Amino acid sequence: MTLSSADQIQLDTFWQHCLKHQYFNIGYPENADFDYSQLHRFLRFSINNCGDWSEHSNYVLNSFDFEKDVMAYFATLFDIHPEDSWGYVTNGGTEGNMFGCYLGRELFPDGTLYYSKDTHYSVAKIVKLLRIKCRAVESLANGEIDYDDLIAKIAEDGERHPIIFANIGTTMRGAIDNIATIQQRLQQAGIARQDYYLHADAALSGMILPFVDKPQPFTFADGIDSICVSGHKMIGSPIPCGIVVAKRENVERISVEVDYISAKDKTISGSRNGHTPMIMWAALRSYSAAQWRRRIKHSLSTAQYAVDRLQAAGIQAWRNDNSITVVFPCPSARIAKKYCLATSGDTAHLITTPHHQDNRTIDALIDEVIAETEPHAWRAKRGSDEQREGGAQVPAQVRVSNARFDVI
Ligand SMILES: *Cc1c(COP(=O)(O)O)cnc(C)c1O
Repeated sequence: MTLSSADQIQLDTFWQHCLKHQYFNIGYPENADFDYSQLHRFLRFSINNCGDWSEHSNYVLNSFDFEKDVMAYFATLFDIHPEDSWGYVTNGGTEGNMFGCYLGRELFPDGTLYYSKDTHYSVAKIVKLLRIKCRAVESLANGEIDYDDLIAKIAEDGERHPIIFANIGTTMRGAIDNIATIQQRLQQAGIARQDYYLHADAALSGMILPFVDKPQPFTFADGIDSICVSGHKMIGSPIPCGIVVAKRENVERISVEVDYISAKDKTISGSRNGHTPMIMWAALRSYSAAQWRRRIKHSLSTAQYAVDRLQAAGIQAWRNDNSITVVFPCPSARIAKKYCLATSGDTAHLITTPHHQDNRTIDALIDEVIAETEPHAWRAKRGSDEQREGGAQVPAQVRVSNARFDVI
């Protein structure tokens, strides 16, 4: 690289910025606890995983062997035989969700996609791009899908081939839609297993649930048809990435022959990142299942610690089971900005990713939130004492506010 001195300064300044803020993140699920320095040397190569890693490609600078290992790992993790599954390393959760919805639509071209109002906003883009009919379903107070409303809407629409978009950990509240309940309710409604498609959006929790003692149902053995996970969230990656796993038989339907690379392609993009499969591979090889369990246990107990501290100060904080997302009433704009909190309506959350090895940042945030909610400050901010009450319980009436979805 030849850069002017001004450009050099710009780079150096950004370097300092990155160093300073490396572990800033408490409001988003990106884990910054990683070290891929052994892979840095590969950045000099134009590695490209265009096409299907399970086929031969004439583009020899591919990392297909690594991608194959990564996909075998996730197939096993999600309880499907690698031979019966197919998936690939994506650009992130959104592409994985899109792939799952695409498979669902190919299976049921006229099917309606049902998703709860707590679903990630990417589904709005996906249904537009794929031109899938869709219907937003109410959420329960903890962020799970409202099962009664789901079934009522399917009945109201007379939909015989629903495509269900289930959240395995919602973005704002870490809520997990119970796919066992969903399937039971569909069966009771007279919709047979072969007549619906079930995609699981496990962007964050797909790398948590496999390592906890009592996971909610989330695997292929539990009835899903496809699942996606983000690589830059729980696993941690300098480049956004993710994986998607689906049933092989459903994937065969969308495969296209490409003579130009002499391979079949089933993926959404053309050229695909060849470095991210190596990053995922390195992460998965560096930690044993026992080590993942330990890391995740630590994150979960840090989340509980945050809940306990906030509750002890009379602040209505809570979290869902097996979730590292701690939900609490939205603090002032000043605090939200200072800690880069993601807020939605009147709630905010903090996420205890593994880079919070000590509680320093979390304590600093909690201290400020508590200071602000001392009776005086609280009254001034909310104009009411009412909202200080409550405590341990998930608020009975959390208003589900996700205005973004009203437009699709
Ligand atoms: C982050 C997230 C996504 C989107 O994933 P990207 O990797 O950012 O594309 C989808 N669903 C949920 C529940 C998420 O939390």
